[in-house]
Amino acid sequence: MRADLHTHSTASDGTTTPSELVAAAAAAGIDVLAITDHDTTAGWEEALAAGDRYGIRIIPGSEITTRVGRNKVHLLSYLQRRDDEELAARLADSRSSRVVRARSMVELLARDYPITWDVVLRHTPPGATIGRPHIADALVELGVAPNRDEVFTTVLYDGGRYDVPNAVPTPVEMVGLVRAAGGVPVIAHPRARVGQLTEQQIADLVDAGLAGIEVDHRDHSEADRRRLRELASELGIFVTGSSDYHGAGKLNELGENLTAPEVVEQILDLAGHR
Ligand code: AMP
Ligand code: MN
Ligand code: MN
Ligand code: MN
Repeated sequence: MRADLHTHSTASDGTTTPSELVAAAAAAGIDVLAITDHDTTAGWEEALAAGDRYGIRIIPGSEITTRVGRNKVHLLSYLQRRDDEELAARLADSRSSRVVRARSMVELLARDYPITWDVVLRHTPPGATIGRPHIADALVELGVAPNRDEVFTTVLYDGGRYDVPNAVPTPVEMVGLVRAAGGVPVIAHPRARVGQLTEQQIADLVDAGLAGIEVDHRDHSEADRRRLRELASELGIFVTGSSDYHGAGKLNELGENLTAPEVVEQILDLAGHR
C-alpha cells in the first residue's frame, strides 16, 4: 500500500484541481491519498468523487496554520467532522485574516514592484485559501522572478519585510479543536524552516491530543528524521511520511515519501472510520 498523506490542490496553493490531484496520484501508483489544503475543507467533495472513479482511498484533511509567538506551525488534521461549528469557524477566521494579510502584503509590495490586487486575484483560483504562493505567481507574471521558489528566496521569505503576520490560533488550541471534531492531529514537518517546535513543545502537544509527527518530508535531514522517530517512540505517537505536493508550485513529487499501512489504519481507527 502506497499512502501519501499531505498534498495540496487549487483549494489552497496547489496548482492541480482536486480531480487532477487524484488523477496524478493514480498515475503515481498511490493507493491512499490525503488532501490537506491550508485552512480549508473546500476540496473534499471533488477529491472524494475522483477517488471513487480512480479507486483511490481519499483521506480528507486540512493543513492548519497556527502560531507560537512569531513562529508559524503547521498542523495536519485528518478526517475531522467538517460541520463541527467551532473548528469550521476558526478555519473561516483564518481564511478571512489571510485575505486582510494578503492585501497588506500587496500594499507593501506595491511600493517596490508594479503589483496590484487584481493581478494577485487573477492568480488565485476561485474559493482558494489565499497565501504567499498566489502573490508569488503574480510577481512571476510581472517578471520579478522566474518561479515561485525564486520569489520566496528573494522577496517573500519567512519573516521578511513583506511577510505580514496574521492572527491564527496556537497549535495547542487547534489540536484540542481537531480532536473535539473527531479528527486526527499530526504535526507537519516540525524540522522544516516553518514550524521549529522544541521537543518540549511537541511533548506538550501530545498532552493536548497530538497523534503523530510527520517525519519523512523533503525538508527534513536524515539526522532530523532519526531524532524525530526516537522522539515519537518516546512519546508513544506514530510517524508519517508524505510529499507535500503542490502540483507545479513546488518540486515535491507525489509519493516521494510514504506513510506505513499500519499508521493509515491507526488514523482511520482514531477517527472511527472502520
Ligand atoms: P503562507 O501560508 O501564505 O504563509 O505561504 C506559505 C506557503 O508558501 C507554504 O505552504 C508553501 O506552499 C509555499 N512556499 C514556501 N516556500 C516556498 C518555496 N521556496 N517555493 C514554493 N513555495 C513555497
Ligand atoms: Mn502550501
Ligand atoms: Mn506546511
Ligand atoms: Mn503543506
